[in-house]
Amino acid sequence: MSRTAFNERFPDDTACARFLLEKRWPQGFVCPACGGQKAWELATKRFTYECAACDRQTSVTAGTIFHRSHLDLLTWFQAIYAIASHSNGISALQLQVQLGLGSYKTAWLMLQKLRRAMIDPDRSLLEDVVEVDESDIPYRTKGDPIAGGQGRSAVGKLHFIGAIELSPDGHPRRIRLTPLQDFSASSISAFVSGAATPGATILSDGFSAYRSLKGYNHKPKVVGKMAAHMILPWIHRVFANFKRWALGTYHGVRKPHLQRYLEEFVFRWNRRRHMKSSFDMLFRLAAALPHAGYRQFVDQY
Ligand SMILES: [Zn+2]
Repeated sequence: MSRTAFNERFPDDTACARFLLEKRWPQGFVCPACGGQKAWELATKRFTYECAACDRQTSVTAGTIFHRSHLDLLTWFQAIYAIASHSNGISALQLQVQLGLGSYKTAWLMLQKLRRAMIDPDRSLLEDVVEVDESDIPYRTKGDPIAGGQGRSAVGKLHFIGAIELSPDGHPRRIRLTPLQDFSASSISAFVSGAATPGATILSDGFSAYRSLKGYNHKPKVVGKMAAHMILPWIHRVFANFKRWALGTYHGVRKPHLQRYLEEFVFRWNRRRHMKSSFDMLFRLAAALPHAGYRQFVDQY
């Protein structure tokens, strides 16, 4: 969807509310309390409905990420559009400028909330042939200069693990990435069983932690001192792309947010050929997420 098309489709709050209404109740309003389908729109509050059976009042935003937000729907829609249409992602600062938001904190919180929407709860496990390996990325702390990098020694490294699904003829398809606490066999097999379907062929570098994988056709590719990017080329390409993207778009990752950065990257990678439908996809996932407050994002780490 081009920017012009977006602006024509969503000129104001009313258009956004109508769109949300249609997405939430495609067959017409259904009361979340009693299931009743007869309701009146309140004269005093637009897009809020009072159930004829139980009198419960339900706003079109109730139960969605947009609920109780001090930002209007149009701003949310513009943020979703900005995130979905920037093929490389957008920083909180860019979002603040582009949407004319009053504060950096507001932009940052919106981004965090929308990144949370980037995992499709209905997604299926990786199949066929799956390359798996671990990697790490240096992280920066609050005090580090944001644009720095020259000559600055890394304060530490964050470990993560990834998998990429290959078609039987070797073409890359979907990926998964997640932070890795340690290199124990249990951490690694927990990742594999959450990422790949039982019976898939797992290609690894032969690291001993993979030997205890159960239910998979495991093919360790131990090739002496040969570099891992030679024997597992696709997952290493993903790692390199992720690092370049994280450094370019976000100027490096901050420790508490690694998971969200990985999730955003996975979202973008898995839809790299369907960017046109990203707005609808991200909108659908965001609208299905319940409201979360600022504290939930700051406290959960
Ligand atoms: Zn009701």
